[in-house]
Amino acid sequence: MKDSDQLKRFLFAHNPIRGEHVSLDASWRKIVAQSDIKGAALTLLGHALTAATLLVETLKIEGSVSLQIRGTGPIHLLLAEATSSHTIRGIVRQSRELDKEVSLQKIFETDKLVITIKNKAGLPHQGIVPLNGNSISEALQAYFEQSEQLPTRIWLACDEQSATGLLLQKLPAEENDKDAWNRILHLAETTQQNELIKLKAEVLLHRLFHQEELEIFDAKPIKFSCTCSQQRTLDMIVSLGKTEIHSLIEEQNEVAITCEFCNANYTFDKVELEQLFVEGDNLPLSSTHH
Ligand SMILES: [Zn+2]
Repeated sequence: MKDSDQLKRFLFAHNPIRGEHVSLDASWRKIVAQSDIKGAALTLLGHALTAATLLVETLKIEGSVSLQIRGTGPIHLLLAEATSSHTIRGIVRQSRELDKEVSLQKIFETDKLVITIKNKAGLPHQGIVPLNGNSISEALQAYFEQSEQLPTRIWLACDEQSATGLLLQKLPAEENDKDAWNRILHLAETTQQNELIKLKAEVLLHRLFHQEELEIFDAKPIKFSCTCSQQRTLDMIVSLGKTEIHSLIEEQNEVAITCEFCNANYTFDKVELEQLFVEGDNLPLSSTHH
């Protein structure tokens, strides 16, 4: 039986190469169940969530990493977020049928992948990467090359039950064995999708790298969790601006908002909304969001 919902880091004992293995299981199934996604959209979201989980660990940040693709194509939104507290959440939106075998640019009708890194102390840092290739791992390859990261490769796999990923990274250190990186990449390339999905981390790593000596660290558990709250939802309403809130109050007695990530419902009645005007004159006159 595979170890579920966890991330494991590992090191090659004799070479300056590190790695991570992640398996999203119950956390992933929860996301699948509440959004009735299937087919290519499901695969893209599974890959993006796995990649975000690997990235947040690799970048060693206290905060979150999100991958976002927004366009006008058959799949028009993909958003996957992972935090350093080992939580994930994500959504994908599809409005039309997809043709078979199309590139990410055709699927989304955009040429951008946006990677946002939010550090607990500081402003979010946004990186925009050209949306190339047919998969999230191909598109991320451009990010690794462009952002002057250490040489890094990822492999992603997903079905309705699990989303799994493997990352390898070459560390800046003196190499005695110059061929190690290429040899280890070559071994990783032999991974089959169903092995990534089905095998326990140790079994997969042994199957790939049994000629190398690995040090495998303790697993970190991962779970689905949403950061939405009554207050954040209210802040979002405030950001709509006075005019918009007034018309909401005029039109209906209450405003109900459902979180896209977790389906939580937040309802505000007329009194609560009117209270916003009493509490402060710092409301924007109109929306700054478009
Ligand atoms: Zn939520």
